[in-house]
Amino acid sequence: MALTPSEATAASRLIVDLDAVAENWRRLNGLAAPGRAAAVVKANAYGLGAVPVVRRLLREGVRHLFVARLQEALALRPAVPPDVMLAVLNGLCPGEEEEAADAGLVPVLNDPGAIERWSAAARARGERLPAILHLDTGMNRLGLGRREIERLAQDPSALAAVDLRFVMTHFVSAECADDPRNAEQVRLFHARRARLPPAPTSIANSSGIFLGPLAASDLARPGAALYGLNPTPGRPNPMRPVVTVEARILQLREIEAGETIGYNATWRAERVSRIATIAAGYADGYHRSLSNRGVGWLAGRRVPIVGRVSMDLITVDVTDVSEAVPGAAVRLIGPEIPPDEVAAAAGTNGYEILTALGAARHHRVYLGAA
Ligand SMILES: *Cc1c(COP(=O)(O)O)cnc(C)c1O
Repeated sequence: MALTPSEATAASRLIVDLDAVAENWRRLNGLAAPGRAAAVVKANAYGLGAVPVVRRLLREGVRHLFVARLQEALALRPAVPPDVMLAVLNGLCPGEEEEAADAGLVPVLNDPGAIERWSAAARARGERLPAILHLDTGMNRLGLGRREIERLAQDPSALAAVDLRFVMTHFVSAECADDPRNAEQVRLFHARRARLPPAPTSIANSSGIFLGPLAASDLARPGAALYGLNPTPGRPNPMRPVVTVEARILQLREIEAGETIGYNATWRAERVSRIATIAAGYADGYHRSLSNRGVGWLAGRRVPIVGRVSMDLITVDVTDVSEAVPGAAVRLIGPEIPPDEVAAAAGTNGYEILTALGAARHHRVYLGAA
């Protein structure tokens, strides 16, 4: 990999392998057949950078994109051709309808008020406006509930001004393949949508795709698996790793047995130790809960994080690694230390590990771009 001078000298880097994202999408799209796979790129493509990810996925043939909020969709709009669906999962806040319609966006309609407001916008413009209707089947977060669906079934004219692109639902625990809720939600979804005007269906997230025919629909909505998170926890990860984070060694010091490291002295050396201080911290998305729990990767070896992770710095025990020199890069996430493993050590999920990179200071490098 040829680096520009600033890439080579950056204190820390987030490297995103767009070839791997593309291959993961092709894989998921194949598994979704005869339906198709969309790409969920909310939260800045799970922290990795929505614009480069979307540009690459469009070249692969992605025709449907999902973000969470209007602002995210508007930011992406210039990069997305008008015939590619750009949908807003959270729907619109009251008053955002005009702007969304002007931008040709497809809101998810999550409640009767949203249907009314979108229909009013459509009538005011004298056109039908595209939308996705979300039927809740147990998440109880967003989407029309049982009684609201029943009322809509009694009066489907409420949807007259809406061009219904998809009806969708969302799994409660698709990553637990043997959870009976999965089949129950699919059953409820089909029973409820049968009461409404016909439309193509959208059911599975990443893990849902791996539930097989049970969760088949016209449009799967994978996010996490595109970015290399394991959609089948407890089984080998079928996706290609996408993300590498590395930070350079700023300083090396030798400490005596009995000395402590960092804030609140949470780690004490049991032997003479060599400690590397590296240029990343919780402000770079490396969770403070990884203090004395996380591991780095240097010269083919795992090196333990010792002491508190602070805002800008992390300390690593490199006593046994002679390759540890100032300027060397220690990997914090990568193929050897997958984000799912970092998440387990941090007491969270891989989604939170990746999205935390969204606000981080890392120099970003995209492999396989353009
Ligand atoms: C975030 C989200 C997805 C994508 O889920 P992954 O588990 O990341 O694949 C799909 N559908 C909805 C409604 C979502 O909120």
